[in-house]
Amino acid sequence: MILLKTAKDLEAMKVAGRISAEAIKVARDQLRPGVTTAHIDEAVRKFIISRGATPSFLGYAGFPASACISVNDEIVHGIPGGRLIEEGDIVGIDVGACYRGYHGDNAATFGVGKVSEEAQKLMTVTRECLERALAVAVKGNRLGDIGFAVQSHAEENGFSVVRDYIGHGVGKDLHEDPEVPNYGRAGRGIRLMPGMTIAIEPMINAGGAKVRVLGNNWTAVTADGSLSAHFEYTVAITESRPLVLTPWQEVLG
Ligand code: MG
Repeated sequence: MILLKTAKDLEAMKVAGRISAEAIKVARDQLRPGVTTAHIDEAVRKFIISRGATPSFLGYAGFPASACISVNDEIVHGIPGGRLIEEGDIVGIDVGACYRGYHGDNAATFGVGKVSEEAQKLMTVTRECLERALAVAVKGNRLGDIGFAVQSHAEENGFSVVRDYIGHGVGKDLHEDPEVPNYGRAGRGIRLMPGMTIAIEPMINAGGAKVRVLGNNWTAVTADGSLSAHFEYTVAITESRPLVLTPWQEVLG
């Protein structure tokens, strides 16, 4: 069941989203060669709590950290720990904050120092996929328009779309209906309505779409070892333009 949000719901979601976006910046500012992913996660956790919110991911389905930190061939759900960030890595930071019972959820991928041409192109195209999806996240369009926007742009650039993980509704629960796939056919699927709040989150691989889950039962990696990138906004569908509730692009400047 899709829960439409009232103006009052959206006020709390804006705060949750802003804190989530600022947490992306906190993580980005810690990223440098030699730092552990656990150190970045700790900075994120402290920041979210300092803002009067709680980390949405910590304890969610047993997840042991406040951020998912996914490096290079890791697609999503990287568990922070002793891994050292290295020059040339691409690092996906996915973080959510819960404020007054409402969640924000967002992600961005950053290069550390000088990255390969392929890595740079993958990050650029994945971010463009998100922006193209956002552009069609308007009242009257359908969920398939979002999936098509992502898939067509990724594939035109020689990349592939992860199918095993998808976007989702977000609100009082971190994951609500509807499912928001990053693939699909234009004009198909549920019609977008004002008050819907969805996490749009393209996960794009430089190689094939196939996924493997590591022995920790969380971390998804590309089956072929190729690089993967991930960007995400929580978005509210409105009467006019979509409203980005997690404005990390603005926070990062
Ligand atoms: Mg999400």
